[in-house]
Amino acid sequence: MQTRRSILISTAGAALAAGAMTTLPAAAFAKAPMVGKQAVSFYRLKFGDYEITAVSDGTVKLPMSKIYKHITESDAETYLADRFQAGSEVSVNAFLVNTGERLILIDAGTGDLMGPALGKLISNIEAAGYRADQIDDVILTHIHADHSGGLVSNGKRVFENATLHVNQREAEFWLKADAKAKADKVLGPQIAQAEKCVGPYVEAKKFETFADDAAPLPGFGSVLRAGHTPAIVVS
Ligand SMILES: [Zn+2]
Repeated sequence: MQTRRSILISTAGAALAAGAMTTLPAAAFAKAPMVGKQAVSFYRLKFGDYEITAVSDGTVKLPMSKIYKHITESDAETYLADRFQAGSEVSVNAFLVNTGERLILIDAGTGDLMGPALGKLISNIEAAGYRADQIDDVILTHIHADHSGGLVSNGKRVFENATLHVNQREAEFWLKADAKAKADKVLGPQIAQAEKCVGPYVEAKKFETFADDAAPLPGFGSVLRAGHTPAIVVS
């Protein structure tokens, strides 16, 4: 049976074949590496007096059909495939906020923790016209690897002039874990990762916590949305 997708693919293929026969030079058939990167790696918008730049760290494949509720996995797979979302690539983004006075980064990408399809935050911040050492503050929504991995590189702070801001209970959960939590098969490696990524900021006294629903910084709010971690926050 031809689906919308197969028709699109076969139509595109036929057009390409026809074009190739008549117009493409032989050099177009030479082998070249796949680039795998889109031109747009950041998106900028004004929000009141602030300028916000959404910056890509890259994409990660997630088992999307397992995530939904009230639908079977196979139905979810069909639903996603019909909408050209099979094998979904999910974006990992961070947000750079220029208040006019300070440059504030919300979340820090994956660094080298999640493979080469990610870890592109710094190069994309530079493509957006900024440098890591210009950033005054970093606010984390939570300490999972896809939000905190990019804080360090080879054990050193990537944002060397920035103060790191984390919800207090989130910081305590990950950084003051007891031996039992550290021995846990799932939690243990995540705790080690949290210590590795956040620890250098604590040691450099470039680390501050904020209370539930409190402002991490003047002009910013936070809403406690615990569940995914003890204290995920929306800034
Ligand atoms: Zn998470």
